[in-house]
Amino acid sequence: MIIRTLSQIAAMCGGAVTDPSAESIKIEGILTDSRKIQPGCLFVPLAGERFDGHVFAADCLAAGASAVLWAKDKGEAPGPAVLVEDTLLALQQLAKSYLNQCGTRVIGITGSNGKTTTKDLVFTLLATTFNVHKTSGNFNNHIGLPLTLLSMPESTEIAVLEMGMSGRREIELLSKLAEPETALITNIGESHLLQLGSRKEIARAKLEILSGLKSGGLLVFNGDEPLLHEVLKEKDTLKPEELKTLTFGLKDGNDVYPTMIQYTESKTAFTSSQDHASDKQVFELHLPGEHNVVNALAAISIARHYGVAEQEIAAGLKQAEFTGMRIETVIGSSGITILNDAYNASPTSVKAAIGVLEKKQGYRKKIAVLGDMLELGPEEKEYHLEVGRCLHPDKVDLLFTYGKLSDKIAEGAAETMKHDTIFAYHDKSELIESLVSVLHGNDVVLVKASRGMKLEEVVDVLKGST
Ligand code: ATP
Ligand code: MG
Repeated sequence: MIIRTLSQIAAMCGGAVTDPSAESIKIEGILTDSRKIQPGCLFVPLAGERFDGHVFAADCLAAGASAVLWAKDKGEAPGPAVLVEDTLLALQQLAKSYLNQCGTRVIGITGSNGKTTTKDLVFTLLATTFNVHKTSGNFNNHIGLPLTLLSMPESTEIAVLEMGMSGRREIELLSKLAEPETALITNIGESHLLQLGSRKEIARAKLEILSGLKSGGLLVFNGDEPLLHEVLKEKDTLKPEELKTLTFGLKDGNDVYPTMIQYTESKTAFTSSQDHASDKQVFELHLPGEHNVVNALAAISIARHYGVAEQEIAAGLKQAEFTGMRIETVIGSSGITILNDAYNASPTSVKAAIGVLEKKQGYRKKIAVLGDMLELGPEEKEYHLEVGRCLHPDKVDLLFTYGKLSDKIAEGAAETMKHDTIFAYHDKSELIESLVSVLHGNDVVLVKASRGMKLEEVVDVLKGST
């Protein structure tokens, strides 16, 4: 974590210390959340949707903060302060200066799905060989990323940073701030389609990660996504210097691809080739689904690039720890297995989750409970239909849908599944009643929808259902 005097902080973020007697105050750490103040920290008040953090500054000082950052137009600071024009910009500038002073190299990770999983994997693999720091949890935006940098130890050799977005120019900002030497794009899905208009625009937005890429840097991307190849060819996306690229994916035209994949209930085993090199090393991953093999391949590409030995990679993958797995397996009180992924949903992640359900073995019935995927834009119905079409009667026994858009999932599924195995609801209580009435102890139930559909209410009932 950053440790500097207040005058050094001021110099780093282009501000001025209010009072000369405060210049030598020692700052240990930066915080923006007034509820988490630690003694000795610098409190950075930010303007939120409901509150302006400046109103909490006096309380933070009373709680032990050594000083505050203070916007010039907010009147007089309540104590030792660094005056700046804009506290958010100053926070970002401070993080950039700290990063440069530490001389830390950066790997930036963006993409529609799998950023956090891949970030955790890359971190684990590089930690076998380097002094690494990573984004904690999902701190991946214009505030979380600077805070991640400011929390890293000064001796950090490589920072593995997740970069999230909801619209254009956001990845550009993060990339220019952190100037990665390696940029990774996990995939292009459909999240934020409403804001961006098309998947191609999403690809362009993710490729903004090139705007801050260090000269001579490396772009590692999902080669199975044609749009990434296509947009990369657009002149204005490319940096003038020759860009080095490395692709990963399931198809064998990629630089890194699997030569064998074997799924079992508890783990996935696979081998991976690169440059036609030997693929004797078997990698084991305790994460479900094909999509996680893709995430692992992305991490393997990076680890190999950084010279991590194959055995180290295998050991790292085997014991990798994850930040709050999204598909959470819960056993309900009557023994039902619930695959809880009610956190969010886009067509890509729903298809990935269905893939996980399909591979489950030894259950009486495999049941999918799918709700609306929100914010998909004008083609939302088509996307729902498409999800329905990936459900096959030999892989999924029963389908319950919830929400108006999900009628289209039911419609798509009806192309192959029998009508008496599909149940479509607009009322959650009716859905729950109907679902509970067919459940038996040895069933597995996937629950997935956009967060706005609140399907966790279904999960809560299943957890307690008898
Ligand atoms: P967020 O945008 O919320 O930060 P993220 O990109 O960090 O998400 P993860 O948290 O790693 O993604 O995974 C979220 C969910 O996305 C997973 O539970 C899984 O359902 C799905 N997912 C993960 N990786 C992939 C992938 N490579 N392809 C498709 N879906 C994926
Ligand atoms: Mg994430």
